Amino acid sequence: MTPNPRPRGRFAPSPTGALHLGSLVAALGSWLMARHRGGDWLVRMEDLDPAREVPGAAEQQIQDLAAFGMTSDAPVLWQSRRGDAYAAALQRLVAAGLAFECRCSRSDLAATGGIHRRCVAGNRQRPAAIRLRVPDQVVEFNDGLQGRQAQSLATDVGDFVLRRADGPWAYQLAVVVDDAAQGITDVVRGADLLDSTPRQILLQRQLGLPEPAYAHLPLLVDAHGNKLGKSLASMPVDPTAPGPALLAAWRFLGQPGQPFAGTGAVEAALARALADFDPRRIPPVLHATLDEPVSGTVGPT
Ligand code: GLU
Repeated sequence: MTPNPRPRGRFAPSPTGALHLGSLVAALGSWLMARHRGGDWLVRMEDLDPAREVPGAAEQQIQDLAAFGMTSDAPVLWQSRRGDAYAAALQRLVAAGLAFECRCSRSDLAATGGIHRRCVAGNRQRPAAIRLRVPDQVVEFNDGLQGRQAQSLATDVGDFVLRRADGPWAYQLAVVVDDAAQGITDVVRGADLLDSTPRQILLQRQLGLPEPAYAHLPLLVDAHGNKLGKSLASMPVDPTAPGPALLAAWRFLGQPGQPFAGTGAVEAALARALADFDPRRIPPVLHATLDEPVSGTVGPT
């Protein structure tokens, strides 16, 4: 029998701005879950789309994570340098007849709500995207926090893009290739990616890659239910005083106590937090606000 691989989690930010509280929740949640299982924690920079990147944001995010006491156990993997690996995976899918060139524009697909079921391109001269042909089947998986999930890719998603017509690799292909390349066994991330997971599992099956365990953390939303983003200046995380933001993220994850109080090194505070961490306290909900804890275990502030 092959021994179980050592657990490996990861945090994979996109360098579109400074770390905000929502990304700190994902970073801390994935770090705690990996360490709780005695595993490694890796950082991957998802710098796939230069048009969406803020210059310097990637380096700043890595520095800020270190200020919050979290550093990658392996060199940071930069997706902008992984084109050859994505091209090789794409080539296998094309050769197997599972992926195809598509010249459909957004307006070509308007009649089907943007869902691609077959090519209906009006203009056959435009550059082609490459899409995965989605089989008519339901993909099921058991999410460690959100429970049993099932999605019909043909109905809900359609044939999806692996490489955009204007060049960039699509997140869905890159994340699958890199989770496998980095040996990730446990994907812990925000619930906004729950409905991407069946696409990733399908790609893993088609490429013959191992399927990691998934756990999707509640998404931090504001009082109106909007995802917190870098635009919400009211929620900056201050890496020069990491305690308050770490405590907010800790509480948001349903954990009690004050492990981040005091003035000691942030690494020592994280070690205290890890000793107290219980993944069963993480609220199994898709969304929550900061002010309305969804778990009964949050202590007094
Ligand atoms: N880069 C994605 C984000 O910042 C995360 C992708 C993932 O964890 O799979 O939301």
